[in-house]
Amino acid sequence: MTSMASPTAKPSDTGSHNTTAIFKELGFRINDHDLYQQTISSVLTAAAMLELPHHLQLILAQPKNEIMVHFPVKMDDGEFRLFKGYRVQHNNILGPYKGGMRYHPTVALDDIKSLSVLMTMKCSLMRLPLGGAKGGVQVDPRKLSPGELMRLTRRFTSALGSNIGPDHDIPAPDMGTNAQIMAWMADTYINFGDASRRWLGMSVVTGKPLEFGGCLGRDKATGQGLVFVLEELLPELNIPLKDMTFSLVGYGNVGSWTAKLLGVRGSRLKAVMDHTGAIRCDSGIDPVALAQHVEKTGGVAGYAKADAIDTETFYRTQVDVFIPAALEQMIDLPQAQLLQCRVLAEAANAPTTPPAERYLLEKGVAVLPAILCNSGGVTVSYFEWKQNRQAETWDAETVDTHLKKHMYAAAQRVKLAVHRYGCDMRTAAYCAALENIGKVYRIRGIFP
Ligand code: NAD
Repeated sequence: MTSMASPTAKPSDTGSHNTTAIFKELGFRINDHDLYQQTISSVLTAAAMLELPHHLQLILAQPKNEIMVHFPVKMDDGEFRLFKGYRVQHNNILGPYKGGMRYHPTVALDDIKSLSVLMTMKCSLMRLPLGGAKGGVQVDPRKLSPGELMRLTRRFTSALGSNIGPDHDIPAPDMGTNAQIMAWMADTYINFGDASRRWLGMSVVTGKPLEFGGCLGRDKATGQGLVFVLEELLPELNIPLKDMTFSLVGYGNVGSWTAKLLGVRGSRLKAVMDHTGAIRCDSGIDPVALAQHVEKTGGVAGYAKADAIDTETFYRTQVDVFIPAALEQMIDLPQAQLLQCRVLAEAANAPTTPPAERYLLEKGVAVLPAILCNSGGVTVSYFEWKQNRQAETWDAETVDTHLKKHMYAAAQRVKLAVHRYGCDMRTAAYCAALENIGKVYRIRGIFP
């Protein structure tokens, strides 16, 4: 077993002075519970280990642009509602900004900022020619009719105007958004864009429907990427995918695809929790049947072939791999103390808080970080953008082959960084991402 996979690898505390100094310099009011500060702290810990120049650390500690828009939408009852939308562009040293658009009632600036940082790190770790961004609207899309959803999406896209573009900032789906919403965004952008570049306008977003410039395999990409990462890393922990047991928080796009693809490899899904409840069946839940149930009813609650369980029983379920695939910060210390797993694989962005991670690492649980585990989504988004710009269509096999190559290479980079810097996997993943960013800044310099 290599130290990469060593469950006893501890988080490094190198650089905590450095982080505090940078937070002070930027005028942050220190708050350990703040997701943005948690995210930046981890990045700065890695930056200090790499001895990244102070000015680069300052640049990376704040997004380049934080765009906030308010826009009205006519609802089906004839009334107008005002919505708040965000687009945060963290960094574009490697290429155009890239990142998802989230529709969720809890969307807030600080969370979007954190997610934009993670996008910069992911694109760099994957060595994609893209920067990091994230956006969203504070809304519960389940409470809107299709017409309201379309009008909201079109108004949001037009409110963002030239802040997005195929060479500048390229949104994609995230929680609460999907291929249809991406199609409305692209269509709106094309309609107010430069007529001579209309077809290029399609590449303003990724995750589009196949019939309209989408890429085969984009819907399953994040789950598929995670499965490739597990394939690469779990053998060192003596956990073969065949017969591996796992549980999931979230059974949306990422959770359900992960379950279906692991199911094909012989892994056994023991428990699932989503916003409607939690279920468990020790002999195994059929991932496809559960996906059909969720499609029909909106959640896992009421699935007949598993027992309804409470949250605590869910977290206590003994599995080889626990996979959070829902919201940020869901695994805090109280949840971590219940977990009985050997590996926590972060399919969601930032699902594990620093105290929870410290506890798990002390206990010998391997924590596989989000910027590695869930970067399959942005990687296939990159393939889609590339195909749109070159007027090409890849078949499913080509997409899978390229994705596998990218995921394996990124996993290797993280393993190497664990050895080189003697740190935990999250810090190592940031080190591997920052090495690349640091090199490009050195080559390009800072304008003027
Ligand atoms: P989704 O909207 O398809 O599904 C979200 C899931 O989370 C649903 O099953 C929902 O029930 C569950 N959920 C919401 N609130 C919950 C709560 N309070 N308790 C338990 N479960 C809850 O979203 P998704 O696209 O699957 O994204 C899931 C996560 O993966 C997010 O963190 C997202 O940022 C991340 N991610 C997604 C992609 C992608 O390609 N879709 C790529 C990278 C990262």
